[in-house]
Amino acid sequence: MEHQDLGFNSLLVHAGGVEDALMSAVTPIYQTSTFRFHNADHGAACFSGEDDGYIYTRLGNPTIADLERTLAILEKGFGGIATASGMGAVTTVYMGLLGAGTHMIGHEAVYGPSRVVMESLFKRFGVESDWFDTSNIELVARHIKPNTKLIYLETPANPTMVLADIRAISEIAHEKGIKVCVDNTFCSPYLQNPLELGADIVLHSMTKFINGHADIVGGIIVTKTEEDYKNLRSVMINMGPNMDPHQAWLARRGLKTLALRIERSQANAMKVAEFLENHPKVAWVKYPGLKSHPQFDLAQKQMQGPGAMISFEVKGGLEAGKKVMDNVKLALLAVSLGGIETLIQHPASMTHSKMTPESRLRAGITEGLIRLSVGIEEAEDIIADLEQALEKA
Ligand SMILES: *Cc1c(COP(=O)(O)O)cnc(C)c1O
Repeated sequence: MEHQDLGFNSLLVHAGGVEDALMSAVTPIYQTSTFRFHNADHGAACFSGEDDGYIYTRLGNPTIADLERTLAILEKGFGGIATASGMGAVTTVYMGLLGAGTHMIGHEAVYGPSRVVMESLFKRFGVESDWFDTSNIELVARHIKPNTKLIYLETPANPTMVLADIRAISEIAHEKGIKVCVDNTFCSPYLQNPLELGADIVLHSMTKFINGHADIVGGIIVTKTEEDYKNLRSVMINMGPNMDPHQAWLARRGLKTLALRIERSQANAMKVAEFLENHPKVAWVKYPGLKSHPQFDLAQKQMQGPGAMISFEVKGGLEAGKKVMDNVKLALLAVSLGGIETLIQHPASMTHSKMTPESRLRAGITEGLIRLSVGIEEAEDIIADLEQALEKA
């Protein structure tokens, strides 16, 4: 069957794949750095592009290509580019679209290093950037400059759970010839398809929901057009943040159960969010599935479900929050997210500690904000764990 005819879960299982002579049911791990040519002419044809044979694993590898093709299908794009990490994907996009004298716009609360690398490293090479609340479309329009080349969104944003309207922002951007890239890590292609909403590029940290088992680090970029694909693949190949075949094989295996895992952790997250919202010691909860989320309507329109990420604050701020983090028994006190296990962490002292305190506060990352990535355990057990920890706060 052609992949256009298949539903999401069937694609998770069957998309991609390689034809190998031994008829393997699962794409094998081609753990090789290089590939043999039949003869000198074949080698020359592979290099000129006349033959699509593999050459060298940094340039391409069948195990990695399976994963790249699958994600391009799931995100409804032209092609996928796998990277060694999510940050490899972010920096490949920055390198491919920006240069000295250009400007980019980003959401103020994104994955910490996505902003830090721009404001430190890329600034040294003459790239300007502005970071503010992209949930405010007026602000986005006002910050566009003649040299703006990229609008970089993360929705829901990490860790504030603020949403950006991908369709509305893409329309404004495209009028001015500006590209829009969305970090879709918090949703995965199961819950949100930025390219369908108008974005040009989507990227993921595959470390999170796509792999889903907290056992590898990896990234992926999917572009809508062939032109962007060729540009970014060339950046990746020349800079070298390529994925390893074994890593790709694990990510492809984890991906098969993406929808099952997300359905389960999302159902748990809804129960946990309701529990937290009704708890007397909790000051506030941000979860796109709760009516109290300021952008509940946009979440309904743009996302196929609210996901498994929750941020909340315990009354009493950081000190009370620390008590909760120090007393959970089932949830793991650890960064990262999107795995089968429930994780809890404190952005101001952990994932977002490299931001200045002022930019953190401006971005809504309060000292007491706690981020929860809800896993696939029993909802009752996750809630009981939080309940006993909150009692000690
Ligand atoms: C983890 C994460 C990244 C970075 O990915 P790595 O795989 O850790 O390099 C980027 N964006 C978001 C939203 C993330 O959660």
